[in-house]
Amino acid sequence: MHRRLIAPGALAASLLLAIPASAADYTPGAPGIGDPYYPAYGNGGYDVSHYDLRLTYQPTTDELEGTATLLATTTQDLSRFDLDFLLDVSEVRVNGAKASFTTSGQHELEITPATPLPKGTPVTVVVRYSGVPSTKSAYGFSTWHRTPDGAVAADEPESAWWWYPSNDHPSDKATYDVSVAVPDGTQAISNGTLQSTSSQRGWTRYNWRSNKPQATYLTTLAIGRFDITTGKTSDGVPVVNAYSKDLGDNDGAARASVERTGEIVDWLTGYFGPYPFNSVGGYVPNTTTGYALETQTRVYYSPRQFANGSNTSVVVHELAHQWYGDDVSLAGWKDIWINEGFARYAQWLWSEHEGEGTTQELADYTYASHPADDAFWTVKPGDPGPDNQFDTAVYDRGALAIQALRNEIGDDAFFTVLKGWPKEHPYGNATVEDFRKYAERVSGKSLAPLFDTWLFQPSKPAAPAARGASLSAARDHKGVPAQPRSWKKIAATDSVHSG
Ligand SMILES: [Zn+2]
Repeated sequence: MHRRLIAPGALAASLLLAIPASAADYTPGAPGIGDPYYPAYGNGGYDVSHYDLRLTYQPTTDELEGTATLLATTTQDLSRFDLDFLLDVSEVRVNGAKASFTTSGQHELEITPATPLPKGTPVTVVVRYSGVPSTKSAYGFSTWHRTPDGAVAADEPESAWWWYPSNDHPSDKATYDVSVAVPDGTQAISNGTLQSTSSQRGWTRYNWRSNKPQATYLTTLAIGRFDITTGKTSDGVPVVNAYSKDLGDNDGAARASVERTGEIVDWLTGYFGPYPFNSVGGYVPNTTTGYALETQTRVYYSPRQFANGSNTSVVVHELAHQWYGDDVSLAGWKDIWINEGFARYAQWLWSEHEGEGTTQELADYTYASHPADDAFWTVKPGDPGPDNQFDTAVYDRGALAIQALRNEIGDDAFFTVLKGWPKEHPYGNATVEDFRKYAERVSGKSLAPLFDTWLFQPSKPAAPAARGASLSAARDHKGVPAQPRSWKKIAATDSVHSG
């Protein structure tokens, strides 16, 4: 209300402040949060700080019913606001009073509170709902995955619409309590720590808690019959993994990979600093999808990731995201390199650790195996556009950019940057620009040309400066060096987002 604040004189100001704002001062919140890649995703006018989801799910019919309680703060004088949601809503209450509601667009739930909401005030929104998620779609697709014994919500950038109402954009992170009742003998897996379970009349309720800010797309739910294993990292972080009882021939390889979570968190801690959350683990449901996803503290793995045997590289990729993507999240979806470039580079570091090819060998191979006229070089990892957001180039050229940065600023500065970044924006959001400025601050070098060349030009950069003896390695007649032994396992991770 700038008009009041600039009113002349204290008396005038206090008089004006005593007068309730007229209805004309209150406007609807925007139907999108302002991300140019996905204009309708998220919403304007408020910030959510906590989601309390109390759900009941019946696997045989895919019926989900629940009550979502959202704690939020308004960021403008609001006459109305949206949530992103697809299931059938029976009642909405805002600050205790019944609100009217309707739907619009592809996934908007428009809520009009009985009383307009002044800017900067806390708001409690209660949404009662039910529905069969597998019957709902937006833009012609669904990311709700049914399985023979349940269902899974894990996808990027959208998965929340099918199971809870939200401000669906990573720039509005919140804590979560997810409580799910399922028939006895079935488990409900979600993020964070399992606070308690209780059984009553044939139903078991699982109460999960995420006590650190978490993006909507990193919030996951899996219902099915699982074997659950527990352990601890060397630093004492509890590890909780879950495996569908229905993994068939992939069961052994899945466990042989995901059971190494604690070891890999220990190893990543050496590069990225202390693990940022109070729980870690992964789950492998009996889905037919092909990708994995860095769902916060509880990584989602498709069984197909293990169809050719164990793959610790994918575990490294998804756990690296816990620092690069989950703790420090992208500010907008154009900043996807902040996530994928570094998760891929962590796989390169793991390859070197395992003696299957150094990061420089992987960089040399990536660079040489894409000729200048390859469409690979037309993708700009620093701003790839929504259609190329999960293109292989965002990963491979993205990691190449990181090797170029390392060669430019030297190992000391580089590893200081790698470990310092999560402390720069803990539990927050950041842009590619923020990362460049941080690397410049640490290294004392101007890095704008290097970032422009490797992340923002739609063409193959001139060959990076050679380091060590790797460029003298044996090459084929096209000048492509030998394929590092880790290459195929790393490339297998590329189905991560191609579902
Ligand atoms: Zn990734």
